Amino acid sequence: MRKITIIGAGPAGLTAAYEILKQTDQYEVTILEQTDRIGGIACTVCHNENYMDLGGHRFYSKCAAITRWWHAIPGVTLLKKKRKSEIYYHKKFIDYPIKADFKNLSALGLKELILIFYDYLKAQIIKKEENSLEDFYINRFGKRLYEHFFKNYTEKVWGVPPDKLSPDWGSQRVKGLSILEVIKDSLKHAFHIKDNDNAQTSLIEEFYYPVYGPGALWTAVAQEIEKNGGKIMKNCRVSKLKTENKHITEISYIQEGKVISEHTDILISSMPIKNLILSMEEVPDAIKNISEGLVYRDFITVGVLIKDIKIKTDDCWIYIQDESVKMGRIQIFNNWSESLVKDPHTTVWLGLEYFCDKYDDLWNKSNQEMADLAADELIRTGIISDKTTIIDTHIERLEKAYPAYLGTYKNIQELRAYLDCFDNLYCIGRNGQHRYNNMDHSMLTAIECVRNILNNLISKDNIWNVNTEKEYN
Ligand SMILES: Cc1cc2nc3c(=O)[nH]c(=O)nc-3n(C[C@H](O)[C@H](O)[C@H](O)COP(=O)(O)OP(=O)(O)OC[C@H]3O[C@@H](n4cnc5c(N)ncnc54)[C@H](O)[C@@H]3O)c2cc1C
Repeated sequence: MRKITIIGAGPAGLTAAYEILKQTDQYEVTILEQTDRIGGIACTVCHNENYMDLGGHRFYSKCAAITRWWHAIPGVTLLKKKRKSEIYYHKKFIDYPIKADFKNLSALGLKELILIFYDYLKAQIIKKEENSLEDFYINRFGKRLYEHFFKNYTEKVWGVPPDKLSPDWGSQRVKGLSILEVIKDSLKHAFHIKDNDNAQTSLIEEFYYPVYGPGALWTAVAQEIEKNGGKIMKNCRVSKLKTENKHITEISYIQEGKVISEHTDILISSMPIKNLILSMEEVPDAIKNISEGLVYRDFITVGVLIKDIKIKTDDCWIYIQDESVKMGRIQIFNNWSESLVKDPHTTVWLGLEYFCDKYDDLWNKSNQEMADLAADELIRTGIISDKTTIIDTHIERLEKAYPAYLGTYKNIQELRAYLDCFDNLYCIGRNGQHRYNNMDHSMLTAIECVRNILNNLISKDNIWNVNTEKEYN
């Protein structure tokens, strides 16, 4: 039987294994996963019977086949959730997506509203040349709205101010988003018109969520894979690939400190491209340089269990637009699913998100220092009254959570062309393709990859070109 090895038990790797085993029994399928978890970034961590979603994962796709796929996984209950999120700005909470209602207008105040309107009109009359993401936002929203809703959060996520980011970021991530979209969305909301299908992705109103978090769905997928004969090997970190005439011949991984080498006929990789290239032999210097220059953002989530929250909120998450604190977003897990919380009626389970760089101070803080920082920022933002309300804290660090379109990303096509020359190598998923994506994109790259393998298709363009914003057939 031919052997397919898959690197990574995240949404991409699991979807690939599931699809192969569902469609054929001609292959022996093995997933190698470096951690002891299932689901990659979309895993769920259990700490003292409270479940933590590392990012707050909305299950939403414009591709109906993906939504059906999630629903077809046995043993998983998907809650239908209404989006509820706010922006914390200058000690006020404003709905995001913005709704032109009394609460939000009064939170901004009449003077501020006039200034916002003036800036918006000015931006419509005098368009800036778009040399940066800042220009992109100001041209669409005016300076004040940009400062309220985008500036600080964007800088926290990427570690670079928007005036130093390319305007392409705007067109890739908030394409279609404009003040008109926001007003249209706000009017639809006022008249109770639901239109999730046509909503700009960052404004979608409804999504699904597994009762026990995203990891529960991916664990159920893993069980299906094993039921169908697939093998999932945890704590196995792929470290080396042997190649011959543009063909992967052998894969080595480290398990319990030992290096194990095995033959594989086909290799599907969802590991970061940078590490993939590092593990390969005889890579030309030009390619090595591009891969070494790829940039990532790392991520810390601090779970904080509290007795009492000072703000009244039914938000799933709150964006923190405030330079005086380091946290970028807060998840309120009780509002995603009560089942995530051991005692949802007397405790509130929060996830404070910090975007950072592996080499910076934040990443290198001890767990106690991170817990202290989180407590201090919760008090300063008025979310809790004092430290005595905190019952428990748990810290999770995630490397390479965000592939950034910085550094040598502009030369990614050269990397792609190099990797595509290996006839039995397929790159899928978020870091596997260096794409700032959602789960549906990772899954679709896996589905396209399986289609190519099972149909002996040579070109890999369809795998790299998956576009989840377009209607997907
Ligand atoms: C904060 C945050 C919030 C998010 N919110 C949403 C959301 O609301 N909705 C949504 O759809 N998506 C969301 N996403 C994106 C989503 O998490 C990703 O799209 C998805 O997890 C990518 O799946 P993947 O399998 O491609 O990669 P990953 O999830 O990164 O999985 C890759 C796997 O490969 C393993 N691996 C890496 N290197 C090796 C190696 N050398 N050997 C063996 N194994 C290896 C890793 O351990 C990991 O398990 C969010 C992401 C973040 C960071």
